[in-house]
Amino acid sequence: MHQPHELERLYVDFDSFFASAEQHLQPHLRGRPMGVIPIRSEHTGLIAVSREAKALGVRRGTTVREARRIHPRMVFVTARHDVYVRLHGEILAAIETVLPVREVRSIDEMVCALAPAERASALGVGRRVKDAIAARIGPTLTCSVGLGPNELLAKIAAELRKPDGLLAIRPDELPGPLLSLGLTDIPGIARGNAARLERAGVATVEALWGLQPKEARRLWGNVEGERLWMELHGYAMERPATRRQMFGHGRVLPGSWRTLGGAYACARVLLAKAASRLRREGFTTRALALWLTDRDSAGWYGEERFRPTRDDPSLLTSLARLFLHAEREYAGPGVRSVHVTLHDLVPTGEVEADLFGQTPEAKVKRRMEDLSLIADRLNARYRGRKLHWGPWAEIPGGYAGAKIAFNRIPDAEDF
Ligand SMILES: [Mg+2]
Repeated sequence: MHQPHELERLYVDFDSFFASAEQHLQPHLRGRPMGVIPIRSEHTGLIAVSREAKALGVRRGTTVREARRIHPRMVFVTARHDVYVRLHGEILAAIETVLPVREVRSIDEMVCALAPAERASALGVGRRVKDAIAARIGPTLTCSVGLGPNELLAKIAAELRKPDGLLAIRPDELPGPLLSLGLTDIPGIARGNAARLERAGVATVEALWGLQPKEARRLWGNVEGERLWMELHGYAMERPATRRQMFGHGRVLPGSWRTLGGAYACARVLLAKAASRLRREGFTTRALALWLTDRDSAGWYGEERFRPTRDDPSLLTSLARLFLHAEREYAGPGVRSVHVTLHDLVPTGEVEADLFGQTPEAKVKRRMEDLSLIADRLNARYRGRKLHWGPWAEIPGGYAGAKIAFNRIPDAEDF
């Protein structure tokens, strides 16, 4: 850990990425209120909203029906994940004409390290990154670039100037620019954390800033609070696993498995594997996504959101519900590949305490978590899956299916 006195990190965050990607790729959509949807349904929520739609009050998560009520001429485009992944590759190449990308945080967020010689003119480097993207990709796909002594402050700088912004938070001006923020504007402070902080008398960023690092640790109940405090104060530290975006597995189905039933049997195995890794690495998830594809169709994408969850029975039930939707909506003749991901992660230690309260539902869930953890231990000990929930299918070829691009750039170990 050290305390940089220069700008060492550059953070790039695209504005309404899926929506501006479609406006970039389909010029007739530019300047129009439009949204991207995961599936054709009046009840689905928008996964991205163009700035023109935002100006009318449409938000991410607004349902198609509600968006139509706000603006009857709103345009909806079904998400094309493979296309966005390709665009992501073009973006990386554009940024790397200026400086190397250090880590990809999501499909539309990446962080770069500034070399010592670049730090004095960091804003100029940021400007060049934006220019390179505009020149090589186009003016529609805008991003905000933030600079800071560490990644957290660079990310906050990018968020402070949206859309199409460029801002530096310098170590010597701290906490100045942070004081206008609410607690939940700080990445890593979820609403549950903020409520707990408020109950402890820490209702503002200024109050959080004024704590002692040990107090932050105590309020969080784990080291994460102290880490966040250090980063807000401009210290730079490595955060290896805690910034994970997702756990997921996908594979191409063997020939005789290419039906919804085959995909379901396979998805259960993939989900159990992802959930076991989620628990092993100390995370809890708030969303499960299922993606089915066939060679010639757009495929089917569905997502369920829920309160923080990490037990197998709840996750498998959620998967079953997604397949019920897929059964009604999936148009493809068969299913060639299946991919499940757990995302919107929270470190388990940060999950709001009242979830583990005394309601009968909470007690059952806790027992299911304990049982899942016991199953993990047994399966690790006996090398292989001896204990699992419900029907279990051995998939020919094991997990070594072909890699599938998804709505985030998968890590190699996600397959
Ligand atoms: Mg973004």
